[in-house]
Amino acid sequence: MMHYDPTCDIVVAVGSGVMNDIGKIVANVTSNPYVIVGTAPSMDGYASGTSSMAMDGLKVSLPSACANVIIGDIDILKEAPKRLLQAGLGDMLAKYVSICEWRIANLITGEYYCETIAQMVRDALKKCADNAEGLLQREEEAIKAVFEGLIRVIIFVVYMALVARMKEIHRVYMYHGAEHKTIFCFEHGKELTVENIKKELRYHPRCGTAFIFVTILLSIIVSSVVSVAFPELTANRAIWIAVKLLIMPLIMGIGFEFIQLAGKYPNKLTKLLSAPGLLMQRITTEEPDDAIIEVAIEAMNACLSGKVSEKTENDAENEE
Ligand SMILES: [Zn+2]
Repeated sequence: MMHYDPTCDIVVAVGSGVMNDIGKIVANVTSNPYVIVGTAPSMDGYASGTSSMAMDGLKVSLPSACANVIIGDIDILKEAPKRLLQAGLGDMLAKYVSICEWRIANLITGEYYCETIAQMVRDALKKCADNAEGLLQREEEAIKAVFEGLIRVIIFVVYMALVARMKEIHRVYMYHGAEHKTIFCFEHGKELTVENIKKELRYHPRCGTAFIFVTILLSIIVSSVVSVAFPELTANRAIWIAVKLLIMPLIMGIGFEFIQLAGKYPNKLTKLLSAPGLLMQRITTEEPDDAIIEVAIEAMNACLSGKVSEKTENDAENEE
């Protein structure tokens, strides 16, 4: 890299893991278009926007260029060493877990989830799993399935990361942060001004995300207690589902009271139990700017003076 000619206008890498990562980094640093000619279906980095580099003896993911062109010649790919073929299949099979993680993140933090993309990955996975035997025999179909799968999967990962960084989502999180800070300011008995609100904390123990988290924890605890105390209830699946539905209002009630108590009496126990919810707010809130805080003040004042309920009632009448 030290001998890189700054006048050249395209970066072409030939190889797989390490060559591709170095090529992407060079293309990123020099802002040149990047072409990768893959020589082994061994890893999922061909389409990714990060590179794994060793820094001070530690492997880290550095942001880098995405390839403009990815070339995979089956005749070359199928001659790759057996261990690289196996590595590629392993990288692919790990995506079963990736899709589950994505869905769980969607359920818990509300992260955007796209079924079309998830299905694309599942299809690619099935193709690879079906062709696993053929891969070792260097059959063309199998090699193609793995190489395609590895590229597809990373397009989906890059897509997810981009959605999380979307401007609109970022703004939603800033509004969420402003909401918490405004509530804190009000609860501390201070005047609602941009200056006062800015100083407040953006993690609030009585946030909706905290409530969801506490509810999930409680439902696990309560249903385990019930299943130990009345094991006969769990024998029949239909009855167990009915029981779980019946105790749901109880769980949500306890969750609501807990959130209220945690706000009123901040002690070690309530702090420990609120910790996961507060941790989650590091993702779902951002520091707001002045304009967003002004919107939060307006919304808060409207709530306090009862304007919101009057206005929605009027609107409802007008619509009728
Ligand atoms: Zn909140």
